[in-house]
Amino acid sequence: MIQIENSGTRRLEPIWPEVDQLVYDHGVKARTNHLYSVVKDVVTPMEWPIFAPLIDAINQLKAMRNATILAHNYMTPEIFNCVGDITGDSLKLAQVAAEAKEDVIVQAGVHFMAETAKILSPNKTVLIPDMDAGCSLASSITGADVQTIKAAYPDCPIVTYVNTSAEVKAYSDICCTSSNAVQVVEAIAEQWNTDTVIVIPDQYLAKNVAAQTDIKILTWKGECEVHEQFTPEDIEDLRDAHPDAVIITHPECPPEVMAAADFAGSTSAMAQYVRDKAPEKAILITECSMSDNVAVENPGVEFIKPCNLCPHMKRISLTNIYEALRDVKYEISVDPVIADKARASLQAMLNLPKVDNPFHFDTGKNLASAPYVAI
Ligand code: SF4
Repeated sequence: MIQIENSGTRRLEPIWPEVDQLVYDHGVKARTNHLYSVVKDVVTPMEWPIFAPLIDAINQLKAMRNATILAHNYMTPEIFNCVGDITGDSLKLAQVAAEAKEDVIVQAGVHFMAETAKILSPNKTVLIPDMDAGCSLASSITGADVQTIKAAYPDCPIVTYVNTSAEVKAYSDICCTSSNAVQVVEAIAEQWNTDTVIVIPDQYLAKNVAAQTDIKILTWKGECEVHEQFTPEDIEDLRDAHPDAVIITHPECPPEVMAAADFAGSTSAMAQYVRDKAPEKAILITECSMSDNVAVENPGVEFIKPCNLCPHMKRISLTNIYEALRDVKYEISVDPVIADKARASLQAMLNLPKVDNPFHFDTGKNLASAPYVAI
């Protein structure tokens, strides 16, 4: 499969083939059989001979380049389980990126996640297999918008969701993820001695946080294009069809959807809930790959999958991970001045006391308002 060039006594780097030249031979089969046994319930035997040569080549390339792959929970199962070294939600991936020992970080996720990794590990080579893997939340707000908000509300701290560009983080006071948003809001309100905090850009996360705290929240009109599509009627229909299933949702969903669910939290909180409670039947109201990845870990749980695909996350494939690592291409760079400021916002979040368990939103709380900032 892989040719080795020799030149006298000097051994050159193997010539890595084009994707269509990778074959599923006995060697690949032997080296990847253990991985197929992990994903056999969510990857068909017909798909495996296509995936396995890429998985095998990526895992060899990782060792050669001293690289680590950070795989978000929304990656497809063959990426998440077979080439991901560190897996989890945005908070965990940011924490790991800050402490990575490897020379190269490959972000199997979207662009803002790779930027976060670069900001926290500025001396590493950070690759994103597809530069166009964006996010509707990240594109809903600019650094200039944040500067305008800051000028209009000089006494209110700005908490920015990590699903934003480096520039947006740079002009913010602290970042948050869906795992720690409530903790961050309460901590920064105390630090600033204020009862009002601005949470941007996800209006639904902001409203859901507002329902969990006494702090007044102002927000921005951004949404996740995956989670905003779920409706309370969807939840009702699912309950009617599957009365014995536990319904678990993500705080990027509209508050009415959260209120109708049994449990709500970040992707890490969702996975932990299933692990801890081991329900007979579960419905995860979030991106499609999440159920597959949680199912791998919980074979005894039956999953109903009423999911929405994230078109940005789905731009990442084994093929472009292989090509990025093979050619060390699609490297992320961040303006150093912006990176320094954005790092301060991220570090303010990472400096908060680590909590043992990701926050879970109390779905029994009343809905709360979170008006938009007036600028
Ligand atoms: S799932 Fe939503 S928040 Fe996550 S990357 Fe896709 S659009 Fe952005």
